[in-house]
Amino acid sequence: MNAQLKLLIELQEMDREIIGKSTLVARIPEKIREGEKSLLEVKARLDAARKQQESFLKQKRDMDSEVEQMNQRIAKLKARTSEIKTNKEYQAHLKEIESAEKEVFKYEDGIISIMESIEAADKTAKAAAADAKVEEEKLAAVKKELEAGRSQAEKELSALKSRRADFAGRLERDIYELYMGLLQKHQGLAVVETRDEVCGGCNMKIMPQLYVQVRETDDIYQCPQCDRILYRAEENMEEPSPRN
Ligand SMILES: [Zn+2]
Repeated sequence: MNAQLKLLIELQEMDREIIGKSTLVARIPEKIREGEKSLLEVKARLDAARKQQESFLKQKRDMDSEVEQMNQRIAKLKARTSEIKTNKEYQAHLKEIESAEKEVFKYEDGIISIMESIEAADKTAKAAAADAKVEEEKLAAVKKELEAGRSQAEKELSALKSRRADFAGRLERDIYELYMGLLQKHQGLAVVETRDEVCGGCNMKIMPQLYVQVRETDDIYQCPQCDRILYRAEENMEEPSPRN
């Protein structure tokens, strides 16, 4: 096999790894944002539950003070009872007390129902707070793992890149430029294996004569359809057994 082609195959393998690891590193902020999104959702839920709870508590405070005022009014009315002279006045007075007391009962019913709402909102808030804690822990673990992955990938990338520079330096300039052009044109895949007369890049059939030439001669050949550089793996176990 052409020595330059051998270098190209290795360079392609390195670039495949470099692209893969770079993509991994580049996607880390996005993955962190995804994790933060679910935490933010839970926190919004917690916030809403707490606001609702606060609003119920305020309603209850208002109702409590209303009841207190009415109770004071009832107490005053009752204290005046002894001052009443006529029966007619007395009846009206009792009626007034009775209707004030009815009002208080109504408020007290309202207070009971608002207390149930407070309790329900409290449950929701506690559940949301527990979820938020879980999400926070999850996010911290995800971040830790991603950061560890990032530092590992960066270490490997730096080693790969220095090996790559060495290989690139051993390639003839025009071959390297051809390779780089194809790498860009084909999103990272410039050198492909051809098997059974099929290009491993575009999956199109290549002519049998070219297929033979790729192995038998020492030149560098490109796929007529996609221009990618072709190679045939040297004798190995993956080679199909001869047909009968
Ligand atoms: Zn092709």
